[in-house]
Amino acid sequence: MKSILEGRPALKKEVDKIAEVAGYLWQKGWAERNGGNITVNITDLVDDEIKNMPAISEVKQIGVTLPHLKGTYFFCKGTGMRMRDLARWPMDNGSIIRILDDCASYVIIADNPVNPTSELPSHLMVHNHLIEKGSTFKASLHTHPIELIAMTHIRKFMGKDVLTKLLWSMIPETKAFCPKGLGIIPYELPSSVKLAEETVRQLDDYDVAMWEKHGVFAIDNDIMAAFDQVDVLNKSALIYIAAKNMGADPEGMSDAQMVEMTKAFNLPK
Ligand SMILES: [Zn+2]
Repeated sequence: MKSILEGRPALKKEVDKIAEVAGYLWQKGWAERNGGNITVNITDLVDDEIKNMPAISEVKQIGVTLPHLKGTYFFCKGTGMRMRDLARWPMDNGSIIRILDDCASYVIIADNPVNPTSELPSHLMVHNHLIEKGSTFKASLHTHPIELIAMTHIRKFMGKDVLTKLLWSMIPETKAFCPKGLGIIPYELPSSVKLAEETVRQLDDYDVAMWEKHGVFAIDNDIMAAFDQVDVLNKSALIYIAAKNMGADPEGMSDAQMVEMTKAFNLPK
């Protein structure tokens, strides 16, 4: 069977990026078993032939109605699939879906009837909100970065903006590349509507949402940039831990040095 990617270099490039990031997630130890999810809005890359492609699945309910998703298309990691397999065979471990006109259901159109991630409703709620506010962001990523998750087991870091300030202070680039920081979401049941709603809310104010004792949810223009956000924040966590392992609390950049960064790079916070 011909892949939807054949003869569509722009779409293939996006899927190749997803596969590349999936490989990084595995290599970093952030994607054990089937952990983590990726969804990317590919609507801008869809041509008339794709719009006319027949469904290869029955109509499936999202579970919520998302009015801004009418006629949109997404690449979604498959439910139960491994990131390390997605890295090698993206179209066997993920699929492309079309949101139907009722904005509450979808069909799979290519390449195989791989059911999307069980976290599809929360990912689509985020995409719906991004479209609603005119954002250029197309990619959403949920993964399990070890050191960042470890830090959420320590109560003193869970206050508003405590972890953001600490991570910013470990190396100047973190504030420059994650200028809105890390929004903390107290523990909620995975896949719950409450967790999804809180994620949407936090991503209005922060670059990345941190799910206490679970993982992160990042959004950006493409999947590579969403990965970069998490990578930069986790690098700061690693520097903090490395300094602690030397037997001392790291000093961190001073408040004055952080203000200097904000002014020099014209940062929002
Ligand atoms: Zn997870």
